[in-house]
Amino acid sequence: RFITFEGIDGAGKSSQIAAAVDWLQGRGLAVEQSREPGGTPLGERLRELVLHEAMDLETEAMLMFAARREHLAARILPALAAGRWVVCDRFSDATYAYQVGGRGLDKAKFEALEAWVHPGLQPDLTLLFDLPPEVAAARVAGTGEAPDRFERERRDFFERVRAAYLERAAASSGRIRVIDANRPPAAIREELLALLQERYA
Ligand code: C5P
Repeated sequence: RFITFEGIDGAGKSSQIAAAVDWLQGRGLAVEQSREPGGTPLGERLRELVLHEAMDLETEAMLMFAARREHLAARILPALAAGRWVVCDRFSDATYAYQVGGRGLDKAKFEALEAWVHPGLQPDLTLLFDLPPEVAAARVAGTGEAPDRFERERRDFFERVRAAYLERAAASSGRIRVIDANRPPAAIREELLALLQERYA
């Protein structure tokens, strides 16, 4: 099984991923935990480039998918073939949300890359941690000051990322489950574990 976690920055994915991995391992399952962009030595080098070098948007999208191809070939597909569970922090839904929704990449180009890199493969389950960008931003660093114009730009960007995630969830035929992340971590974890229980127990 292939399970992915998604959400805007500050959604609180990391601690929930740890809880999900604990739950699966507690049931005696072999779990391979990974992240994107990254997940392999080459993928981590591409992550450094793509997150820290200024570049053309289409170059960025192609590097994201290059890292993903490597991740699939070297880790994800072999793990799934061996019957292991793969839990990944971000996958193609993030490229849709950030590069298409947030930055304006042409949707047809995204779909072409997705069809090239993982034809016929999607995660079995994707958990989308959803919350308003202003709440996420306050979690990342809260000062109580009025937002300046850069912060407003950032907020608009994350509004677009959030909307793209929700749009993709609505079109996913139930693959992407939206979890309200604007709640205390314990309540979110409870819903997450109940969902895993209902699906995989
Ligand atoms: O989830 P994580 O914190 O590892 O993501 C690292 C950064 O990469 C985040 O700031 C996220 O906004 C960005 N990112 C991106 N496009 C993606 C995936 C992640 O801009 N497709």
